[in-house]
Amino acid sequence: MIFSNASLKNYNTFGLDYKANGLVIIKSEEEAVSLVLEHNELIGPVLVLGGGSNILFTGDYNGTILHPEIPGIKIREKEGNQVVISAGAGVKWDDLVDWTVKNDFYGLENLSLIPGTAGAAAVQNIGAYGAEVKDYIFKVRCLSLSDASVMEFTNQECRFSYRNSIFKQEIKGHFLISEVFFRLSLKPTLNISYGSLQKEAENIGKLSQKTIRQAVINIRTSKLPDPSITGNAGSFFKNPVISGEKAENLQKKFPSIPQYRESSGETKIAAGWLIDQCGWKGKRIGDAGVHEKQALVLVNYGNASGREILDLSEMIRGSVYEKFGIDLEREVEVI
Ligand SMILES: Cc1cc2nc3c(=O)[nH]c(=O)nc-3n(C[C@H](O)[C@H](O)[C@H](O)COP(=O)(O)OP(=O)(O)OC[C@H]3O[C@@H](n4cnc5c(N)ncnc54)[C@H](O)[C@@H]3O)c2cc1C
Repeated sequence: MIFSNASLKNYNTFGLDYKANGLVIIKSEEEAVSLVLEHNELIGPVLVLGGGSNILFTGDYNGTILHPEIPGIKIREKEGNQVVISAGAGVKWDDLVDWTVKNDFYGLENLSLIPGTAGAAAVQNIGAYGAEVKDYIFKVRCLSLSDASVMEFTNQECRFSYRNSIFKQEIKGHFLISEVFFRLSLKPTLNISYGSLQKEAENIGKLSQKTIRQAVINIRTSKLPDPSITGNAGSFFKNPVISGEKAENLQKKFPSIPQYRESSGETKIAAGWLIDQCGWKGKRIGDAGVHEKQALVLVNYGNASGREILDLSEMIRGSVYEKFGIDLEREVEVI
């Protein structure tokens, strides 16, 4: 299905009402292949857009948006204690997690309730509550937007790192992910490394995959704004990773600064804390604001423009740099 001069309001979780020259809904990999081969359907630059939950539009998009709605969750093979499953790029991420939990396939439960699609999960290497999807992705199937050739990237070839992958770097914008394959455990294995997760789960019932999923859902709904009510894209900035030496110096000046030692020897700092310390939590400029419970989340209270949200983010970035000497990197992609 191809729409011209299409509204993007329902295609981005900030709820911004910009337009794209063209919007193409793609229901299968074959459809995507024919579209690319009949290239003249595409007007101007091309952007692949999933649920728009990690995107900030700052104006109309003068090009064509490809929106994969490729469905389907399949069991591909079972071997020993492991199962390989696949999900079409358009599968809602949390529907996939729900399905794995109902089938007793272990691994994705800590990533419950993250908005967006299965395809984008591989782009961003989504992570939460002590888990990252890179530890479960087996391979990613894509098609080239220049010649429609289909190819598969192994986990290693995806070059995953913190909220990052090859799809955001070297080959950004060149491929449409059609399907993602995951390797999950058939043997009960629970990840309770995150702070209060075990306690939350045990408040619900006996510690299990299902209570972990419910605990994650409860924590997330109590802390994060629901984009269907208040426009937002989750964490606006990444947690900065700095050298051990810089972290030690900062700790001398700010003894309560939350720090997490990485296996690389570097230190991850909580960006939300830095922003909060600069006095931004709950602040609002017009309809663009900083969420009152989570300073890392910027919100659209109704009629903010993308530019106003971006300007607010730049003010935050400036004050964090001034106070702590740390330059925050955006997690959200600005278009
Ligand atoms: C309330 C809230 C909470 C959130 N919490 C978390 C969290 O805990 N952890 C976390 O990691 N993220 C979180 N996010 C961010 C977001 O949900 C994830 O980044 C998600 O994976 C984005 O999915 P999407 O389908 O909306 O992608 P989009 O925002 O549509 O796109 C993101 C990027 O992926 C590309 N892309 C999308 N689909 C494809 C495809 N099929 N092929 C090729 N490229 C593609 C786009 O071009 C873009 O570069 C949160 C967001 C919100 C709104």
